[in-house]
Amino acid sequence: MTPLGELLIRQIRASGPITIADFMAACLTHPEHGYYTTRDPFGARGDFTTAPEISQMFGELIGLCLAQTWIDQGRPTPFTLVELGPGRGTLMADALRAAGVVPGFTDAARIVLLEASATLRDVQRKTLAARQVSWVDSVDDLPDAPLFLVANEFFDALPIRQFVRDPNGWRERQVGLRDDALAFGLSAPAPLDALTHRFDDTQPGDLVETCAPARPIVEAIASRIATHGGVALIIDYGGWRSLGNTLQALASHEPVDPLAAPGQADLTAPVDFEALAQAAEGVAVSPLTPQGVFLERLGITPRAEALAQNLTGDALDQHVAAHRRLTQPEEMGSLFKVLALTPEGTKPPPGLDP
Ligand code: SAH
Repeated sequence: MTPLGELLIRQIRASGPITIADFMAACLTHPEHGYYTTRDPFGARGDFTTAPEISQMFGELIGLCLAQTWIDQGRPTPFTLVELGPGRGTLMADALRAAGVVPGFTDAARIVLLEASATLRDVQRKTLAARQVSWVDSVDDLPDAPLFLVANEFFDALPIRQFVRDPNGWRERQVGLRDDALAFGLSAPAPLDALTHRFDDTQPGDLVETCAPARPIVEAIASRIATHGGVALIIDYGGWRSLGNTLQALASHEPVDPLAAPGQADLTAPVDFEALAQAAEGVAVSPLTPQGVFLERLGITPRAEALAQNLTGDALDQHVAAHRRLTQPEEMGSLFKVLALTPEGTKPPPGLDP
């Protein structure tokens, strides 16, 4: 068992089963043993790869989308340019380079990153060495100012809870012990106000998931956008309303048992965009748009053709494969979705018009 696994076993033996959310939070962001806290997991040799790591085109188009929205809203200056969970900082670096063609945009931007991992903060500091950047621990610490924000594969890392419907309410799925090893179990049934609306579309035995930390994050973002203007681009894998057990563990690009090596595999759950939209009070919510459609509308194909002019051999093959991977429905094109929040009555961001 991993050191974090041993720690959790001792904790559960002393004080009983823990929720899936507590388990996930410990695995991902435990200060000493958490998955993100202790490593840089991205890339071919890491455990998974993400859109900005696949191609520079992803961050470039996000940067231009944010800059066009900034122009459409009258170039508010200064404004806060925020990324939630920036990983290696690649998306932000590509976005800033591309948006550099828009006069005034990068000068007006106060760049703020929300990152839980000290290891990844160091990587971000290096990637963005040419820029002035600051970090916050919570969205509540973001300035009261116009907010232009991107979050790619951030919400899928937030801890979820799982509930199985029972004739008498909901039983929470928990991590406990069986024969001194970590094992999933269910709590006694109890009513749960937050899930009453799911009685309409579930049967006894169905499992639904909630992500408690997502709501206050979306509320804090939406209130700044409603008051001061801006946009939030939320990009992630997932859909509209969750049903079924979706917790996933990945190590070396392969699915693994989530309980097998706590702290050493990435844990994620697809994002329930309906829950994010419901938390977004006072702002306009865009149609939930597949990533492939969004990137095509922003011009990824002409950009790919322009970059291809300077490439040959393996580099050209990789570039063509990256374009396919980001956009094709059978790859990331339709599993990943984009949701934007903008002030009521303003033009939607490019690529997300209803
Ligand atoms: N956006 C990047 C990285 C995605 S991985 C990319 O697309 O490549 C998830 C990122 O969110 C990592 O940087 C991770 O350390 C960070 N993260 C995970 N949980 C977090 C939390 N609760 N608070 C802040 N950052 C978190």
